[in-house]
Amino acid sequence: MPVPKRKKSKSKSRMRRAHEAIGAPNLRPCPKCGVYTMPHRVCPECGYYKNELVVEKKVKISD
Ligand SMILES: [Zn+2]
Repeated sequence: MPVPKRKKSKSKSRMRRAHEAIGAPNLRPCPKCGVYTMPHRVCPECGYYKNELVVEKKVKISD
């Protein structure tokens, strides 16, 4: 089985990891309420997806 001849230097590992950062999420404003949300997902604010109510928002029952 082939084995690497030399250990990768700290510099080489760090050079590779310099490109592994997670970027900012791709957000789009909701057409219903305007809140920035992830595309292709139900809006967490109003519960709409493709101009259709899919998830009813929880209503707090006061006593
Ligand atoms: Zn919305």
